[in-house]
Amino acid sequence: MKSPITRKITLIIVLISFGSILISGLFINYSLNRQFQKYLTRVDTARENQVINILAQIYLDNGGWPQQPTLLGMGRDFYLERLFYITDTDGNVVFYTRMGRIRSNQRPDLLKPRPIIIGEKTIGTAYFGKSPIENVLTQQNVLFRHTINHSIVLSILVTGSISFIVAILFARRFSNPIRAMNLTAKAMTNGNLDTRVRDLPRDELGQLGESLNTLADSLKYVQALRQQMTANVAHDLRTPLATIQSHLEGMIDDVIPVSTANLESLLDEVKRLSGLVEDLQEIALADQAIHHFKYEPIALEEFLQILINKKTPLFAEKGLHLLFKSTGPVQLVSDRKSLSKIMDNLLSNAHKYTAPGGHVTITLSHTTEKVHIEVTDTGIGISEVDLPYIFERFYRTDQSRNRESGGFGLGLTIVKELVEALGGTITVRSQPGQGSTFTINFATTPNQRNNPS
Ligand code: ADP
Repeated sequence: MKSPITRKITLIIVLISFGSILISGLFINYSLNRQFQKYLTRVDTARENQVINILAQIYLDNGGWPQQPTLLGMGRDFYLERLFYITDTDGNVVFYTRMGRIRSNQRPDLLKPRPIIIGEKTIGTAYFGKSPIENVLTQQNVLFRHTINHSIVLSILVTGSISFIVAILFARRFSNPIRAMNLTAKAMTNGNLDTRVRDLPRDELGQLGESLNTLADSLKYVQALRQQMTANVAHDLRTPLATIQSHLEGMIDDVIPVSTANLESLLDEVKRLSGLVEDLQEIALADQAIHHFKYEPIALEEFLQILINKKTPLFAEKGLHLLFKSTGPVQLVSDRKSLSKIMDNLLSNAHKYTAPGGHVTITLSHTTEKVHIEVTDTGIGISEVDLPYIFERFYRTDQSRNRESGGFGLGLTIVKELVEALGGTITVRSQPGQGSTFTINFATTPNQRNNPS
């Protein structure tokens, strides 16, 4: 038993079984002893009754008690040993027995008087003493107790040994998964995320083991994500930095003229880099956004209208039509800043991926339980192959990669994380060449909503 937990469980089980056998043994001993005592008393009383009946018969046969104290002679089978003497109703001794004569100095208060009754009339009293047979019975009693105690000790030994074996088997079954989980947890601490707990029992311990396995899976996923993200960031930083570096070197070496156009192109690269840093910061914030939300009732129709008014000039600049459709005012308890960020990102994508002359429409609608916000564009659309991945970090479609205007593939990740952290869901429908629709649903409650009258 190398494992302390196995040792502890074994010890506890053995102690409990020993203790319970001992307690039940003592209890059995006590109650059997009581029963035996009762049995002895019953036997004595029955014998006394027998004697009293015979004495009554003698009284009836002789028409009364003898005038003088008379020695009562009876057969061996008769229960003489405990009878001392008999008195009449006046207290005069009428019969005495051999025992009475031998032990005539016996203190009367230690004798047990039993009335002799015929019909309803008391005719005298028989005095019984402690008989030798009682001693014999007491000896039997002691013997009986010894036998019981012997059996108890034997059963303690047998049951103790059995419980010891069972305890070891049980303790091993119980502690094996714990040991396995301990080893897995230690391996995980040392950076080995491939170890898993196997052969788990179907109980709470098994569930704990499964949770540990799930934790290892999540850690592995997070580790992979971190590595991938670092690689992506490095990759995305490399191109603009290389451009900036080569341009600046060229300018220093007078190979590239320090013109406004060249400086503006450098500025664009710096802006792209700032955009990436901002997106990364946003992702980090979105991961913990739930802690920073400031929930307040927001009149959504008004909120979206203001946003659209602000964005219209930017869209108009590119020849895009920004439209707003609403089924009426609705109130939503949410975080204003995060909602702005969500809408900003969706509109920025719609702006980026829609050609001049296209339409971008925001639609607000609601039911009793839900609020829906749709952002629809008539842009390039997203192919079926890309659709499942567009919310993943750094995912960009080939089309957007080839475009200069493309971002870093973080915008929709931020949107999804914020929407979900606010308790909502986001879905997308798209037809390549025709456009895309992003739909956000938030749950509302009747008292959070203003019913349009
Ligand atoms: P990015 O910053 O590159 O736009 P996003 O995470 O916002 O990254 O979007 C991921 C990819 O999804 C984009 O690269 C683009 O290919 C595609 N996408 C997002 N919105 C649209 C849209 N409205 N129309 C067409 N493609 C879109």
